[in-house]
Amino acid sequence: MSDYDVDLFVIGGGSGGVRAARIAAQHGARVMLAEEYRLGGTCVIRGCVPKKLLVYASRFRGEFEDAAGYGWTLQHAAFDWPTLIANKDREIARLEAAYKATLERADVAIIKTRATLVDAHTVQLANGDRVRAGYVLIATGGAPSYGDAIPGLEHAISSNEAFHLSELPRRVVIQGGGYIAVEFAGIFAGLGSHVTLVYRGENILRGFDDDVRQHVRMDMEKHGIKVLTGCKVAAIEQAGGHFSVRLSSGNHVAADRVMFAVGRSPNIAGLGLERAHVEVAKNGGIAVDEYSRTSIHNVYAVGDVTNRINLTPVAIREGHAFADTVFGAKPTVVDHTNVPTAVFSDPEIGTVGLTEAQARAQLPQTDIYKAMFKPLKATLSGRDTTVLLKLVVDGMNDQVVGCHVVGEGAAEMAQIAAIAVKMGATKADFDATMALHPTTAEELVTMRQKTASYARAAAE
Ligand SMILES: Cc1cc2nc3c(=O)[nH]c(=O)nc-3n(C[C@H](O)[C@H](O)[C@H](O)COP(=O)(O)OP(=O)(O)OC[C@H]3O[C@@H](n4cnc5c(N)ncnc54)[C@H](O)[C@@H]3O)c2cc1C
Repeated sequence: MSDYDVDLFVIGGGSGGVRAARIAAQHGARVMLAEEYRLGGTCVIRGCVPKKLLVYASRFRGEFEDAAGYGWTLQHAAFDWPTLIANKDREIARLEAAYKATLERADVAIIKTRATLVDAHTVQLANGDRVRAGYVLIATGGAPSYGDAIPGLEHAISSNEAFHLSELPRRVVIQGGGYIAVEFAGIFAGLGSHVTLVYRGENILRGFDDDVRQHVRMDMEKHGIKVLTGCKVAAIEQAGGHFSVRLSSGNHVAADRVMFAVGRSPNIAGLGLERAHVEVAKNGGIAVDEYSRTSIHNVYAVGDVTNRINLTPVAIREGHAFADTVFGAKPTVVDHTNVPTAVFSDPEIGTVGLTEAQARAQLPQTDIYKAMFKPLKATLSGRDTTVLLKLVVDGMNDQVVGCHVVGEGAAEMAQIAAIAVKMGATKADFDATMALHPTTAEELVTMRQKTASYARAAAE
């Protein structure tokens, strides 16, 4: 490898790239990493972390409302958006510095520049300099997409800009039905905005369990979020100091901000993939094998740019596995099954494993256990809400293959339930586990009655 300037060149300093760079360096590789924006990538700078901070901020409203039933009288509670954003920015800057320090401690050379491929072993920096590398790791992540061009699209913002608005919009229209759209609907509504969520499909949160989708929509609507499905934004017209959003249904909605969260695309434009003969898969991401190796033997890709499962822990695992495989003499394949996931919406979702629809399509026999009830906290507060807990069980061997929760603490529950599901726990194992009372999660081990049982329909 001494013919090269470095053993590994990592393009992109986000979740996957940073982990891969650090572990490869710890395995003894000479590593250089290029980041064109800010170290930490989407998750730290404009994804998971700042989003969760805004989610926390938005939830105080409900807490303040609930407090009255518990005897509290609150003086006038006021919210200040600039304070929240400034505090959030300070925390993000701290994290960014921590990422930089970690890489420096591992002896990774960091360069703040865009990098592109000239060929499979040559990376070009924005100033024209070239670096020769034994291996190249592409970890450039993804970026918001806006869908079809419509009149006035230039007025729409994405989640990137939503984190930096100078003021809280009084009225927001959000187009999209995925987790980012639904989370921002909850954030803005919780902070006091009037929110209209517009989604072209039949129901929001495609890919999640149908009971979950229905339950979340119902609760969002109870909390004042207007959910319009089966239509889309047709035009955004400027009307004085605000926007008039024309929908495909012909209706107009007034808004101070219009946000599009209609999906994200892998960051591959202008990367020089064709020059290096790196192939792109049908899903728009870089095509890789189970070791994250591309069509070229010394070029690898991890994280959102491969468009497999676009979550931070997955990108981190893929980056780590790559470094162990190539520089640690420990070939490692990442298991992409039973990845738990959450939506920090209002109400929150936590889920792992198969949905009911997936199980019924894949398994000869599917059993469903379901509970829906008013949580204890809502009794005194009087909040009009219910939680949903659902287990999807393989009827042939009693294995719990899916766990879905909607309500407070759902994400935390899903992380723990994921261990059991990953280990192959059966419904009998769940039943044998003592309940922890009084909690919402105890229902996961006390649901005795099947709600439904389905045999797979014979193939036509
Ligand atoms: C609003 C939002 C909320 C999210 N919430 C969650 C969540 O709650 N939980 C979760 O698990 N995931 C969440 N995600 C997804 C998560 O952020 C991504 O899956 C994760 O960041 C992917 O990591 P990555 O390393 O593949 O890419 P990224 O983190 O996107 O990093 C890629 C980096 O490469 C840089 N780059 C791109 N091209 C170049 C180039 N040519 N040269 C140099 N640098 C380049 C970019 O600037 C970027 O810093 C969220 C995403 C968004 C947008």
